[in-house]
Amino acid sequence: MSDDSARRNSLTRRTLLGGAAAGFAAAAGLRPVYRIPAGSAAATSTPPPDFPAGIPLAQQAFRNWSLEIVVENVWTASARTPDDVVTLANWAHQHGYRLRARGKGHTWSPLVIPAGADTDRTVLVDTTSHLTAVSVRPGSPGSPGSVTAQAGATLDAILARLEESGLGLATTTAPGDLTIGGVLAIGGHGTGVPTATENPPAGSGFGTLSSQVSSLTAVVWSAPEGRYVLKTFTRSDPDIRAFLVHLGRAFVTEVTMTAAANTRIRCQNWYDVNVATVFGPPGTGGRTLASYVDRTGRIEAIWFPFTDVPWLKVWSVAPSKPLFAKQLDAPYAYTFANRVTEDMSKLLGEIAAGGGDKTPAFTKLAMSIVGSGLIVTGTWDVWGWSKNSLLYVEPTTLRIVEAGWAVLTSRANVQRVVHEFYARYQSVLTAHQSRGSYPVNGPIELRITATDPADGPLLSPARAHPDHPEWDTVVWLDFATYPGTPGAGPFFRELEQWIWQNYTGSYATVRPEWSKGWAYTDGGPWTDPAVLGGTVPAAFGDWHTAGEKLNSYDPGRVFSNAFLDTLLP
Ligand SMILES: Cc1cc2nc3c(=O)[nH]c(=O)nc-3n(C[C@H](O)[C@H](O)[C@H](O)COP(=O)(O)OP(=O)(O)OC[C@H]3O[C@@H](n4cnc5c(N)ncnc54)[C@H](O)[C@@H]3O)c2cc1C
Repeated sequence: MSDDSARRNSLTRRTLLGGAAAGFAAAAGLRPVYRIPAGSAAATSTPPPDFPAGIPLAQQAFRNWSLEIVVENVWTASARTPDDVVTLANWAHQHGYRLRARGKGHTWSPLVIPAGADTDRTVLVDTTSHLTAVSVRPGSPGSPGSVTAQAGATLDAILARLEESGLGLATTTAPGDLTIGGVLAIGGHGTGVPTATENPPAGSGFGTLSSQVSSLTAVVWSAPEGRYVLKTFTRSDPDIRAFLVHLGRAFVTEVTMTAAANTRIRCQNWYDVNVATVFGPPGTGGRTLASYVDRTGRIEAIWFPFTDVPWLKVWSVAPSKPLFAKQLDAPYAYTFANRVTEDMSKLLGEIAAGGGDKTPAFTKLAMSIVGSGLIVTGTWDVWGWSKNSLLYVEPTTLRIVEAGWAVLTSRANVQRVVHEFYARYQSVLTAHQSRGSYPVNGPIELRITATDPADGPLLSPARAHPDHPEWDTVVWLDFATYPGTPGAGPFFRELEQWIWQNYTGSYATVRPEWSKGWAYTDGGPWTDPAVLGGTVPAAFGDWHTAGEKLNSYDPGRVFSNAFLDTLLP
């Protein structure tokens, strides 16, 4: 990266920290991301020894999106080619170093590096500067196309290239500013299942994006050669299953994914149904969340605590433009949801300073901005090519920390899952409130997808349970708060413990959403040894198979960190 682009990077970061976040960042004494090339007098430690010549190397801060993981002065290499990654892996192996693939750093969990990590013998490998090539193979009538992308390509770039060739993904993550390497590492997903009467184009996928992968190339240890090499796995090779979702315990350089004929998708935004109806008990009728799943298959509900009406985003396949829908020729239509206003910033500041009782005012303001924003921007009913309708979160959105779990159940039980969660969330929140605690000020976000095949990615949170083929649906339960909100740890822990206990037996099962918060103690996420070492492995039938497979391809644990050493020993 040139100094110019480093400056641009820091500016982008500062812009991203707009509003409330900037205040918190300043209070924490954070500096913008910087970059000190190896060899510069400003470097704070000696560069890694015998570093391969020609591969750009600099000291740089690593900051994840929520700024909860900030590690200064990490040596960061920019791989220019897949062969550079091989060279780096062999160098790291010989010198007792570890490599961490780094995409956009938009992960909450400590998968790139944990907060406070000792990075003395770690080199981050930035994939976003050079490993960004994308090529598309168009489909033919009745058969899908495919896209081959290097791991640092963003979904924004991939989806734009697919659209040019008449292709698209049926569902995708809400933001597009994520690398495909990062998204596949954690089993990234969007929302949507096909309706009972729908006949989706060949190659449409409704599970995680990992289940769309037909082949991938990773850097792996070759025992016969005694060194790391590039190896391409296809779907017919069972070993690929450990690499399709791997939490960062591998290094993927390139993937090929199936892509279907592109579709036009309408998104209707509803802001007029009471939360007690949307998340109401099963069988009560009316506009429940499950009723939308039945009707159009694709919904997200975003609901802020202490408010009455959720924001429902209801997508449907619509080959021609509905008369009053606004045509979208680009993604990110909901500009109001991607910035933090001064009023929000002020209230967040008061909450952080101990004014938890300002939380209801804050959440009501957040929801009223949605209501008025939809009207002012004329986006309550939009229509366009799939990516323009499906992508809607920009990095400048309110900086929250999210916890997430995937509940596998049958389609008929979706409303039960949703209702039980809502009822419990409310009762735990009320109990905390009665003690003067306001631990959550961010939204609940609920999305519904299909499962991944039972013989699909081993570590996918959405992988179908081999003994319960009737569990064909995943309810993604997410809830959020502003980083550092007092009382958040105990609240998240209490709700998580209930989630593990409730979604069990013949009705459902549950797994963590890797990129988000889970394994809570009162001190925060990823810290509960019982969940990390017991509950989570038990939630995946083939946990040890996956770990052993990844170990066999990286016996030196070059692609690991202290957190992954505990989780996936
Ligand atoms: C505001 C926001 C909204 C989000 N919305 C969604 C959503 O709608 N759906 C969803 O599923 N997720 C969502 N996420 C989570 C996001 O998809 C994941 O955190 C994803 O991993 C981020 O990609 P990244 O490029 O930032 O990866 P990073 O955070 O840089 O890396 C994540 C992990 O992937 C590994 N990795 C990265 N590249 C490679 C590679 N080439 N080879 C091997 N490992 C690699 C890293 O080592 C690390 O372990 C959201 C996150 C944010 C902050």
